[in-house]
Amino acid sequence: MSAGDYNPYVTAQAQFDSVAELIGLEAASKDLLRQPLREYHFLIPVKMDDGTSQIFKGYRVQHNDARGPAKGGIRFHPEETADTVRALSMWMTWKCAVVDIPLGGGKGGIVCDPRKLSLTEQEGLCRGWIRAVAKNIGPNIDVPAPDVMSNKQHMLWMLDEYETINGARFPGAITGKPVGMGGSLGRTEATGYGLIYTLREALKALKINIKETQASMQGFGNVAQYAAKLYCELGGTIISISCWDNKEKKAFTIRNLAGLDIDELAKAVDTFGTIDRNKAKESGCDILAGDAWLSEDVDILIPCALEGQITAANVNQISPKVKIIAEGANGPTTPEADSVIKERGIYVIPDFLANAGGVTCSYFEQVQSNMNYFWEKEEVLEKLDTKMTAAFHAVHNLAKENNYYMRDAAYIISIKRVAEAVKLRGWV
Ligand code: GLU
Repeated sequence: MSAGDYNPYVTAQAQFDSVAELIGLEAASKDLLRQPLREYHFLIPVKMDDGTSQIFKGYRVQHNDARGPAKGGIRFHPEETADTVRALSMWMTWKCAVVDIPLGGGKGGIVCDPRKLSLTEQEGLCRGWIRAVAKNIGPNIDVPAPDVMSNKQHMLWMLDEYETINGARFPGAITGKPVGMGGSLGRTEATGYGLIYTLREALKALKINIKETQASMQGFGNVAQYAAKLYCELGGTIISISCWDNKEKKAFTIRNLAGLDIDELAKAVDTFGTIDRNKAKESGCDILAGDAWLSEDVDILIPCALEGQITAANVNQISPKVKIIAEGANGPTTPEADSVIKERGIYVIPDFLANAGGVTCSYFEQVQSNMNYFWEKEEVLEKLDTKMTAAFHAVHNLAKENNYYMRDAAYIISIKRVAEAVKLRGWV
């Protein structure tokens, strides 16, 4: 599900290979970690509202579970591919390792467009996905969660199906559940807030006052909305946001040079992150082309949509004013664009560090679900901040001491942790 011919799995493997080389990882570990341990591909038949049946393609990929059960979301997207899910499962392994939580990496997907399915059809799809993998997932095997276009209601239908099949309650089998049904307070905010905790620390490290910064974002789904909210609360100004228009089948950017009103925009967005452009216009925003967000004269770029968005073809549109790119999305930057960004000396908070807040809170949710004792929101967010801040500084310090690019430093920490687990288990 990526722009053009871009293949995220090629990117994920190339990133891994170059760091494995840099740290002199031995051949067997390299071979084991550059591809998924296990993957499941299956068909999901769903009874549609009009009485017909439709067949959907589903995936679950478990990249590595040496440090703990595989963990990662399930994406619903019409252009989902096996290679995209493979890449994302790999990034989950590095993500859990960089924040040092005892989980491995996995990812799932269904080739579908939930925007075109009724709630009953979506429920059928969720239950069908679980029936196909019920034997291969579980609290101690592999724990799914929400991701692109999947949400807490989907997670609860999935959990219900899993528990029905297994004849008992297993609240730790799925995360991202609704609060009151095993979900954690703060989970909805976690990825976006986590991203801003790392950005706040990066700005401090670079001695930049957040109140004097302006940012431009791509995407206005769950991650972007909470990232925008916290960034503005801390004093930053967002001048433009781009989002996808499913009717027009193309993206557009809204811009207000005086600063966007994030609370108002949050009221004018659908559940899939599409902003109502008429409401945006009425509130004084200009409507620009979809890629305009990338060429804004801002200090910070925050891509929070899909993979493969900053490419060789558009990287040179990035303004000389940009000092930081905080990657909220998974894999938003292609390797070619990444080389240009590195060359230009832009400070990157790499995806699997920047957006690790979601899975960190999922881990807290599992802990709470297993104890059947739930924490206050402040406690969850405080623990999240501690984890994200510590992970950020570990990566930042390693990068600074050795003059490494931030993405390489994050990879070094993660790969070493996973390679050590694999070795300790005697797998290599
Ligand atoms: N889908 C989120 C991610 O990409 C969260 C995964 C999880 O909570 O397991 O990090």
